Amino acid sequence: MDTILVVNAGSSSVKFQVFSVEGEGTLRRQIKGQMDGIGSRPRLRASGAGGDSLADRAYPIEAVPDVPAAMRVAGDWLRDELRIQPIAVGHRVVHGGPDYARPVLIDHGVVARLERFVSLAPLHQPHNLAPIRSILANFPALPQVACFDTAFHRTHSAVADHYAIPHHLHAEGVRRYGFHGLSYEYIAKTLLQIAPEIAKRRVIVAHLGSGASMCALRDGQSIESTMGFTALDGLPMGTRPGQLDPGVVLYLISEKGMSASNVQNFLYRDCGLRGLSGVSNDMRELEASQESKAKLAIDYFVYRIGLSSGMLAAALQGLDAFVFTAGIGENSANIRARVAEQLGWLGVAVDAAENARHSRLISRLNSTIPVYVVPTDEELMIAQHTLSLLMNSQSPNPRHERVS
Ligand code: ADP
Repeated sequence: MDTILVVNAGSSSVKFQVFSVEGEGTLRRQIKGQMDGIGSRPRLRASGAGGDSLADRAYPIEAVPDVPAAMRVAGDWLRDELRIQPIAVGHRVVHGGPDYARPVLIDHGVVARLERFVSLAPLHQPHNLAPIRSILANFPALPQVACFDTAFHRTHSAVADHYAIPHHLHAEGVRRYGFHGLSYEYIAKTLLQIAPEIAKRRVIVAHLGSGASMCALRDGQSIESTMGFTALDGLPMGTRPGQLDPGVVLYLISEKGMSASNVQNFLYRDCGLRGLSGVSNDMRELEASQESKAKLAIDYFVYRIGLSSGMLAAALQGLDAFVFTAGIGENSANIRARVAEQLGWLGVAVDAAENARHSRLISRLNSTIPVYVVPTDEELMIAQHTLSLLMNSQSPNPRHERVS
C-alpha cells in the first residue's frame, strides 16, 4: 500500500498523519498521531482510522530531547511496527516568505531558502525545518514537500501586502503575509464542490481555533486576511491579543522594562482570551464560566469578528457568503449565533435549529447571505499537494515554481 506521511512539527510536539493512496489518487486517512512533551515528558500517541488506539507510550527524556529525535522515534515506530514506508512526506511549514506561492518539492537549495525566513517566524520555522533536515540526511531519496501557511495569500494585491513603513523594510520581508492558508485553500476547494456558484463569488471565511483569523475570498482566491507579518495580528485568539496598537508594545518596553523576549512571551502566551478573561484560553471553559471577565472575553471575541467582517466585506466590495471553520467555528453554535447577530446589518440570519445541529448550511432561507459550517482539513490538503507534486516530479518537467 502506498502511503503519504504528513508532518506538523512545533516546538514541543510533532504531529503526524498517514494517508493511503487509493485508486485515482484518492487519499484515505489511516493514522493520526503525535509525539508530545519533547524534552520534558515525551509521549507517543496514535490512533487508527476508526479512532482505535495504536500506541500510547512514554519515553525517557534522553530518548526524545528534540524535534529530530521525536521524528526519528515516530518514524521508527511507523516503519518497524506498522511496516509503513511512505512514498513521500508532506510538511506544514509556517513561512514561505515572499518567494513561495505554492508548495514545493524540497532539496538542499529549498531548505537554504526557507532558513532565510526563520527570522520572520522564529517560534515556528526552525521546528518545521528540523524534521525536513533530518529526513533529508537520513533518507535522501525520500521525496519531501513543503506546504506553507502563507502561500495561499500570495495572491494579495500590492496595497494589501504593504504596511505604511519605509520601502526597504518591505523589500527585506516585512509584509502582510497572512496565515492559516492551508485551511483557507481547503475551504475554497470544498466550497467549489458544495456550492459552486457561491465559491466563485465574495466569501468571508472565519477560521476560529486556538489561533484565529479571517480571510476574504474572491473567486476562490485570497484577497485579504486579518493576519499580517506574524500570526499575532487580527482577531483575539486563545493566548494572543490580535490587533494591538504598537504603542502598547512601546509602553511595555519603556514603562514596564520588558525585554524583547519578555514581550514576545507575553504576546504569544499571556494575552487573548486567556489574558482578558483570567479564566482560560479554551472557549468551552469560557462558555461554561459564570465569571464576568469570561463573558467580556467572549463579547470581545465576537465583537472583533464583527469588526473584521466589515473590513473584509469592504475589501471584497460586498459579501455573498460567510463560512465558519476550525475548533470554535465548527463546534460552538453559541459563538456562531452571536457572530451572526453581529452581521445582521449585512442581512445575515441564522436558523437556530440548523445551527444547533451544526448543519452545513445554517442560514435561514430568507438570509441575504448564506452561512456555512465547513470542517477544515489542513493535513488532507498537505497530503494532496504532496501527492500531486510527487506525480509532477515524475513527469519530465518538475514544477519548482517560485514567484518574484
Ligand atoms: P488548533 O488546531 O489551532 O489548536 P482548534 O481548531 O482545534 O485549534 O480549536 C481549538 C479551540 O476550539 C479551543 O478554543 C476549543 O475550546 C474550541 N472548541 C472545541 N470544541 C468546542 C466546542 N464544542 N464548543 C466551543 N469551543 C470548542
